[in-house]
Amino acid sequence: MDLNNVLNTALCFPKGQTVRNRLLMAPMTTCSGFHDGSVPQDLVEYYGKRAQGLGAVIVECCFIEPLGPAFPGALGIDSDKKIPGLARIATAIKQQGALAILQIYHGGRMVEPELIGGKTPVAPSAVAAAREGATIPRELSSQEIDVLITKFGDAVNRAIKAGFDGVEIHGANTYLIQQFFSPHSNRRQDQWGGDREKRSRFPLAVLDIAHQMADRAEANDFIIGYRFSPEEMEKPGIAFEDSLYLLEKLAQRGLDYVHFSVGHWSRSSIIDLADQTPLITRYRQAISATSSLAKVPVIGVGGIVNRSDVEQALAAGYDLLAVGKACIVYPDWWQRLHSGETLTLEMKSTQREALSIPEPLWYFSLVDAMIRDVQNVGKKFKAGVYHEKVEAEALKLIIDVQLDTDRITDIRLQPDSSLDVDFTQTFEQLRSRMLVANSPYVDAIAGATTQSEALKKAVSRALSTSTKHWAEDSGVDPASLEHYDVIVIGSGGAGLAAAINAHDLGAKVVVVERMPTIGGNTLKASVGMNAAQTRYQRDKGIQDTKACFYEETLKGGRFKNNPDLLQQFVERAPDAIDWLAKQEIVLSDITITGGMSIDRTHRPADRSAVGGFLISGLVKNLTKRHIDVLLDTKADNIEFHQGKVSGVRVVDEYGESRILHTKAVIVATGGFSANTKMVEHYRPELTGFVTTNHKGATGSGITLLQNLGAATVDMAEIQIHPTVEQKSAYLISESIRGGGAILVSQAGVRFCNEMETRDKVSAQIIGLAEKSAWIIFDEQVRSQNKAAEEYLAKGFVVQGDSVDDLATQLGMDPSVLTQTLETFNQGVRQQQDPLFGRTTALRHPLDKGPFYAIKIAPGVHHTMGGIAISTQAQVLDTHNHPLAGIWAAGEVVGGIHGANRIGGNAVADIIIFGLLAGEQAANWVKTV
Ligand code: ADP
Repeated sequence: MDLNNVLNTALCFPKGQTVRNRLLMAPMTTCSGFHDGSVPQDLVEYYGKRAQGLGAVIVECCFIEPLGPAFPGALGIDSDKKIPGLARIATAIKQQGALAILQIYHGGRMVEPELIGGKTPVAPSAVAAAREGATIPRELSSQEIDVLITKFGDAVNRAIKAGFDGVEIHGANTYLIQQFFSPHSNRRQDQWGGDREKRSRFPLAVLDIAHQMADRAEANDFIIGYRFSPEEMEKPGIAFEDSLYLLEKLAQRGLDYVHFSVGHWSRSSIIDLADQTPLITRYRQAISATSSLAKVPVIGVGGIVNRSDVEQALAAGYDLLAVGKACIVYPDWWQRLHSGETLTLEMKSTQREALSIPEPLWYFSLVDAMIRDVQNVGKKFKAGVYHEKVEAEALKLIIDVQLDTDRITDIRLQPDSSLDVDFTQTFEQLRSRMLVANSPYVDAIAGATTQSEALKKAVSRALSTSTKHWAEDSGVDPASLEHYDVIVIGSGGAGLAAAINAHDLGAKVVVVERMPTIGGNTLKASVGMNAAQTRYQRDKGIQDTKACFYEETLKGGRFKNNPDLLQQFVERAPDAIDWLAKQEIVLSDITITGGMSIDRTHRPADRSAVGGFLISGLVKNLTKRHIDVLLDTKADNIEFHQGKVSGVRVVDEYGESRILHTKAVIVATGGFSANTKMVEHYRPELTGFVTTNHKGATGSGITLLQNLGAATVDMAEIQIHPTVEQKSAYLISESIRGGGAILVSQAGVRFCNEMETRDKVSAQIIGLAEKSAWIIFDEQVRSQNKAAEEYLAKGFVVQGDSVDDLATQLGMDPSVLTQTLETFNQGVRQQQDPLFGRTTALRHPLDKGPFYAIKIAPGVHHTMGGIAISTQAQVLDTHNHPLAGIWAAGEVVGGIHGANRIGGNAVADIIIFGLLAGEQAANWVKTV
């Protein structure tokens, strides 16, 4: 079919509706609904504007009942109250002459509990999705399934009342309807599960009720389409043949169209990677002319932007095409195609309002990645394909990195017979993350960290090489590219916060990091960030004061803390929490740590460990701002002569050194817990202790600054953490004790107040004959703490169905452990601990099995001492004078925590002083 026909030829759906041409807007999540899923005005404009010229608009999926929303800002069709808002969308679309179709769905096990008021999501079976951290859903009873089907019916009814021309049943994207068809998520043995025929029953029932509703409303030509994901990666999972089976069954009952859910219209199998045949070709080959499915129009989606895409996709066998990103970037896409324009998927950052894109959608990563401001990109590349080696353990391969002048356009693996499927999957996921971010600095793929880091490094090398080539071709001295306003040494939390803040205040910034990965020891932070008088505390009705936070930190630090630094710390803490929230790093859940009397430890809403969450959020912000991080690059000297900074000498992974020029330096190199010699030098009695820290915590920043005459304070104040799993040197988070756990000796008895400060608890453990102890907790503590899952997965945890069972496995007398728990539980009920005077985290009796135990002993954890700084984070010399142009922040600094750091205060410290150092350095640069 030639293009003009496509643009103007109508198609008649099987039930009789006519669509004026073959081009539709694809259903795309906008995340722009109100909190209850109702429709805001800007969404009406967004859809209305985009309907121009198109055959139809398929409006994003709407959840059919309150347990259904699968993402924040989802739209709902779960009550009659939603009808007027949805009607406004339908009217706006139809006014443009396009058909209005609405997608309906239920997220099932893909729903996060926090989206549904903390409830457990529902699914065909109690099987979690195959992704890290996925919630185990609750199995639906057969009665509940009957009710759900009627709710799908109600949703169809509401769509009719709202004036839509049809609905698309969302049987894809691993949502509930797909979950019923999938052998991975549906393990039922009743009429809804078992073989393929039985697993088809739920989708068929939803289709049936949709027809019934349309019949009842006498909407005889009401369109009913079905969206499907052709295959599943899971094992067992849906194969393409299974999908064809289901589609034929659906078609036999009457369908107006089927809609592929794939990233690109030409996609081939994701299971059989050797077979490159596009799925649409296999689809056309597989269905016989006499089948019911042969009469059902097929919609293709993905990668439709220009004329040639439309022509090729239709020639491949689709009847209709759904257009996604191009419709976001060009509300008048159809007209532009008509007039023969060649389009690229790019927008300027100033265009949001003119394009009527709701704000949440604008910040959505897929859309965000299309925003380009050439002057803002910062990096210039020589366009071309760069070949880079990727080496990680047994993996050795070559990738081709294709660059345009300002972005990464593709990353491909060179064919290699030794590649296994697991790696190919890792590669595909990482590739798409890097392309979306237009940067190699993206989160690693869970479970494949080493390979991910190697790939990221290879892409990063390609970028530097191409920048050098660009400089050579343009007659620019490559060395001149390495002139900065501020160089940040160290990419932990302090360094990244400093870099972002300095950038936002106008400085040209680079971060240098000696390790091959970003994040430093911050990545290991688990419990959270302390702050008093924050908005999240207010929301939860927690009464707190900065004065109390100050006093408790001072007491915890045995009154050795520098009072002025501590004052800054406490004062700036709530603003630091707000700053993080502005960068979309929201720490809204609150817990408590040892040494504090009030819940003031802020952590992610899903209660996951704070470190990874923080670094991943900061890295996204870095990427957004095009701030470079030079990995595998060690700072080995700060060029500081006659009171003036001129540069930093760095050594790269090949041992080559060069000078990066700068006006200011921020040293954020972390502590020295991993430098055994230094630890032993200051504290000989810690010889032989394991450390919880990463390898980069060597204290090199302290030496760098001492060479320039900087002073140090409190160097012998080294904290040992009481609860470290010894074989792995893995830290068992304080949040387990904060969640209600206790410590017992090998004899099965408690021996201290577990919520005392780290130094005191450590001393008590070392005082035991066995010099180790067991953390004991129950199912309630486990269920409220994500870290516990990680410990289980790592094999640290001994589990017993009953207290007796656990005691036997731990080699303890069961009656002693039982007595210990009974006494503790009685105390919890009365909110007191006569034995050891514990007053906090007496959350609930430890009486819900299974019961758990982890063996722990202390390990070197934090170095409180370090470089002396002023209250403005300037590095001080031994005469208390600032070294001009040099700031320090984070664990490299001494004085804030005194003789002992409270859990949750390290993250606070790095963000507060990182931001301060960034701000001070950027402002200072403007004056020189
Ligand atoms: P903080 O918590 O204070 O931010 P982290 O330990 O999280 O500290 O991060 C400090 C980072 O600094 C680590 O990633 C470490 O590898 C890096 N680092 C330490 N010394 C140097 C150095 N000389 N050059 C570059 N990076 C360094």
